[in-house]
Amino acid sequence: MDISRSEEIFAHARQLVPGGVNSPVRAFSSVGGTPRFIERASGPFLYDVDGNEYVDLICSWGPMLLGHAHSEVIHAVGAAVAHGTSFGAPTEVEAKLAEAIIERTPVDQVRMVNSGTEATMTVIRLARGITGRDLIVKFAGCYHGHVDSLLVAAGSGVATLHGGEPSSPGVTAGTTADTLVVDYNDRAGLEAVFAEHGDRIAAVMAEASPGNMGVVPPSVVDGENFNAFCKRVCHAHGALFISDEVMTGFRVTRSGQFGLDGVEPDLMTFGKVMGGGFPAAAFGGRAEYMAHLSPVGGVYQAGTLAGNPVATTAGLKTLQLADDAVYERVDRAAEIVRGETGRALEEAGVPHVINSNGSMFSVFFTDQPVTDFASAQTTDTKRYAAFFHAMLDAGVHLPPSAFETWFCSSTHHDSVLDRITSALPAAARAAA
Ligand code: PLP
Repeated sequence: MDISRSEEIFAHARQLVPGGVNSPVRAFSSVGGTPRFIERASGPFLYDVDGNEYVDLICSWGPMLLGHAHSEVIHAVGAAVAHGTSFGAPTEVEAKLAEAIIERTPVDQVRMVNSGTEATMTVIRLARGITGRDLIVKFAGCYHGHVDSLLVAAGSGVATLHGGEPSSPGVTAGTTADTLVVDYNDRAGLEAVFAEHGDRIAAVMAEASPGNMGVVPPSVVDGENFNAFCKRVCHAHGALFISDEVMTGFRVTRSGQFGLDGVEPDLMTFGKVMGGGFPAAAFGGRAEYMAHLSPVGGVYQAGTLAGNPVATTAGLKTLQLADDAVYERVDRAAEIVRGETGRALEEAGVPHVINSNGSMFSVFFTDQPVTDFASAQTTDTKRYAAFFHAMLDAGVHLPPSAFETWFCSSTHHDSVLDRITSALPAAARAAA
């Protein structure tokens, strides 16, 4: 495979941008090699600057539920762009996107922002403003964007590239002093933290179903899902339960993780799919909570480009197009890739665990159950790198990290899936 143009651009970009990339995992640091510089994308395919075609299992880290460059989304965006790209004044499409989110989820109101990071950053400020308390509980291995106070025991790129604590130099002890960390799925651990600090905890924030340490679904004990448990413990102590649905929202079902477990959080965050491939995110909750937000209440939040007309148009069109048939196709594609990957690794005798939650799934190269961050970290990252490169050479682009979710779109049709299936046996042998 000729990747000479990607190599050239990578060398140049590294002079200009740290690591040559604008989000760390894209640099292939943990798997090695040269990131492919993408020129265009269509449906399930990415095309790099050397003209190579790849089946895409990243889907922009989640947003591209409908596949790349969906004609109706592109058409709607084109029309929006022609009317002007940012007004700094409200538009009807923002209200329509808010309505689409509210109709699909248990929130009464939403506020639009530009990224998942902004959504989580603001929602913890709001939780503190509502409760008048300081402490936030997060779970090890959950990633909520690069908010200083949430960069503690963080998953995603932090787990991939750095590990250890603090999750990032520059995050001060003072900034994280009000963040308490509990192991994911650790019920006794959460109860212990509440027993000690219960009257000071503003909120527990959880990924609705973690995907940033790889996929680690909420456990079910005596019929009670971990999210339901968190909410119950929060409410017993006057704290709020925040579900971060940036990754799961509008992806695992039309209503996100809420559509799977029915647990109604006090506050929620959204991103990825609801931006249709543009920078858009949101947070929301019950009207009485959202009334604490400026300009109605005193908790301040603002954004020059928040609710941008082009981004909200793309998001609204994406949600409108994501009907039952779309979710059926995405679920089926994920099920096939999962099954075929498991079969190939089995045949090659490679120890592995495949975790899934709806259409989100990931493969851990380990022989023990993966239920939290510590067990996720038993994955053999060298095996993952070998597997990743064999798939890439065969034209299948997986996430360049062992601690990420694999994503399919509704355009991953049978012929596309066949290409993945035929690449798997050699990749599994490379990981052996
Ligand atoms: N929350 C979750 C669950 C995420 O997966 C991410 C990003 O991957 C974020 C928050 C941060 O979103 P963004 O990258 O848009 O800032």
